[in-house]
Amino acid sequence: MPNIALLTSIVCLTIIHLRIASVAGCWSANACIDRNVCISKGGTPQTGLCPGAANIQCCTCTTCKDAAACSASSGTPHAGICAGAANIQCCKGGSTSPGTGPSKPTNTMLTGLADILRGAGLNVVEVAGWKTRGHGVMASVKGIVVHHTAGPKTGDYPSLGVVRDGTSSLAGPLAQLGLGRSGTWFVIAAGRCYHAGSTIDDSIYGNSNAIGIEAEGAGLPATDSGHAHWPEVQYQSYVKGVKALQKAYGVASTRVLGHKEAAVPKGRKIDPNFSMAEFRTKLG
Ligand SMILES: [Zn+2]
Repeated sequence: MPNIALLTSIVCLTIIHLRIASVAGCWSANACIDRNVCISKGGTPQTGLCPGAANIQCCTCTTCKDAAACSASSGTPHAGICAGAANIQCCKGGSTSPGTGPSKPTNTMLTGLADILRGAGLNVVEVAGWKTRGHGVMASVKGIVVHHTAGPKTGDYPSLGVVRDGTSSLAGPLAQLGLGRSGTWFVIAAGRCYHAGSTIDDSIYGNSNAIGIEAEGAGLPATDSGHAHWPEVQYQSYVKGVKALQKAYGVASTRVLGHKEAAVPKGRKIDPNFSMAEFRTKLG
């Protein structure tokens, strides 16, 4: 038998909600947050509903559930972007998300990198010593951060020395993987690398939890659309290689971010100089 009192309260809540929505735009003033922060929490940002800067967007979550149930299904609960009680949180990842792979590395070296890329039919160069190179082990692989080197204008992978050995101010390795202009992958390190710096969520995109890929590119012009400044063979290989890594480590496409998206403060990085929205669309 239907609970009349409950139905009445639902109708009332709907009316109140619609009234608030028509006045404020976004469903809650608290849901007007930076779009990248929204995405990192599993939400979907919507433009045109919040006052303030263009990056401040209305964040909604499609999977609001009990935080404990979220964790039990290997997801990560995020507070603040779901309506309701405090335990109801936005669940990101977990067993219902796409791309869940068989390997969940924990506090280990990623010694499978070369085989994963070769298995996808890619051309792979194993850089001597890669299996033991790194600033310690990887805590996990929850994210993938996509970079460009901003290196020399010619050559297949002239930045290899820098990515492997670092600079006078930052010790190498600077990324686990390099990608040459020919589409060849260079496997440089199996451990933790200094590529990310501070991020919107270091538990996903920080150096301990995200694979870094430094693709050779002059980095100019600093565009944020299309991929016209990238050789097609390199770009297609970038997509293919990231897809293979996602499949192997169970990383959803929403957790494949450009450095320009992951880095904080916003605007600290411009790489890569292609559209990440297009890139993620190609990842599927
Ligand atoms: Zn970068």
